[in-house]
Amino acid sequence: MSLRLLVATRTDVGRVRPGNEDAFLVTDDARLVAVADGMGGHQAGEVASATAIASLLEEVEQGESIGDAVSAANTAVVSRAADDLALRGMGTTLTAAVLDGANLVIGHVGDSRCYLLRDGSLRQVTTDHSVVAELVAAGEITEAEALVDPRRAMITRALGIDPSVEVDVLELAIAPGDRLLLCSDGLTTMVRDPAIAEILASEDDRQRAADELVEAANLAGGADNITVLVVDVVAADPTDAADPDDLDAREPVTPADEEPTEETPAVGPDPPDDAAPADEPEELRAAVVAVTDDDVAPRRRWWQRRKRP
Ligand code: MG
Repeated sequence: MSLRLLVATRTDVGRVRPGNEDAFLVTDDARLVAVADGMGGHQAGEVASATAIASLLEEVEQGESIGDAVSAANTAVVSRAADDLALRGMGTTLTAAVLDGANLVIGHVGDSRCYLLRDGSLRQVTTDHSVVAELVAAGEITEAEALVDPRRAMITRALGIDPSVEVDVLELAIAPGDRLLLCSDGLTTMVRDPAIAEILASEDDRQRAADELVEAANLAGGADNITVLVVDVVAADPTDAADPDDLDAREPVTPADEEPTEETPAVGPDPPDDAAPADEPEELRAAVVAVTDDDVAPRRRWWQRRKRP
């Protein structure tokens, strides 16, 4: 069975920060999604996250693997910073996922996260590259202590810092009915996992789920920029898609079921006409054009265009 992703997005400046340094990507065919959380003074964070997203898109479109594309995004941020004194020290997280057959292949650096909601339970798929995550892993502090630790915003890996970066690459087998969440830490430092799970599990409408997550982060203080992508996995076959919730109908995927022509992620500028079906126009209308330029201005337009009336 081939799969397709339906994506709802929401980004918000939060209640404290003067600007939004997060960036995100959803391609026209929704096969590639990503969240980047930039850091650095005087808008440098915005440049870092936008540069990473633009580079990622370009590399994946050229056929690079997600791991190599994230590495190339690192190089792009490093060289951009080297070119401009005002941008020195900027960096960004990047968590990107590409649909490949019945798998989601994830490339990840930093503390933005990918979660999987399956059969009502939520699991964090990515591991934070953060000081507190390392302390928890080492048994030095508990998860509860990590949530309030003053070092919780400190990350141990980011794009733009060193010429090379270690990229986590994860492969996740997915099936219709799965729901994924990609988000920046502006959500997860404000809203605990059980509350995130509750919203994702109880709100069928993915755009409303995205809106509610952002609202919850703002109600909790909105201390940082908040970006969420709610991604529903459905069957690509139109007859299956008519009832994506019918889990009994899903068949185990065997290599024989996969058509070789669908193995290659198709993130080109000319997606097939059926890439954005009539029932999903808002969510699938993507911003590929807006982020191919590494100037930050198009990204701002992108956000505005994606805002709901
Ligand atoms: Mg952040």
